[in-house]
Amino acid sequence: MVHKAPALPYAFDALEPWIDARTMEIHYGKHHIGYVTSLNKALDDHEDLRSLSLEALLGDLGRVPETIRTAVRNHGGGHYNHALFWSLMKKGGGGEPKGLIAHAIRRAFGSFDEFCAKFSRVAIDRFGSGWAWLFVRDGRLLLDSTANQDTPVMSGGAPVLGLDVWEHAYYLKYRNRRADYVSAWWNVVDWGRVEELYALATR
Ligand code: MN
Repeated sequence: MVHKAPALPYAFDALEPWIDARTMEIHYGKHHIGYVTSLNKALDDHEDLRSLSLEALLGDLGRVPETIRTAVRNHGGGHYNHALFWSLMKKGGGGEPKGLIAHAIRRAFGSFDEFCAKFSRVAIDRFGSGWAWLFVRDGRLLLDSTANQDTPVMSGGAPVLGLDVWEHAYYLKYRNRRADYVSAWWNVVDWGRVEELYALATR
């Protein structure tokens, strides 16, 4: 085993009532762990690729042999995105960002409220399974969504905030009401972590 899922940094019920414990348990224990297992399986016969970091693999999928490229893209992306996602939430999160990221958000989107509205729209409008992202590329703060388990890392971006909008992330509690899940999720965002990622991406 080369790649390992980091331990969930809080209890399954820590994000209640916004994200329910049962969803967290299945999302982390089945979905995330499943991506890690499948990624390691894909890399089993590829000694040379097993020494590479996940970022290096995802940032240059062209170097991955075609026979396992889709598996690395989907399961490697899944592992990367979920490990990041858990770290972006905390009990008692929410509120507004401070520091450099707050300034960058205002500069890029006008105001924090404008940003939230645009990010939510991107998350709600992503057709099917995927993610909404705030990320840095070439020094600019950008907003976009990706399909499936694709990540901004695949196109040279550094994610600073991401929201999983696969149905597995919300269906138990919110059923088909993705917009309700998106609006609830703002209450668990760890802006300190976002600020940390922004500083790393722009240093
Ligand atoms: Mn997920």
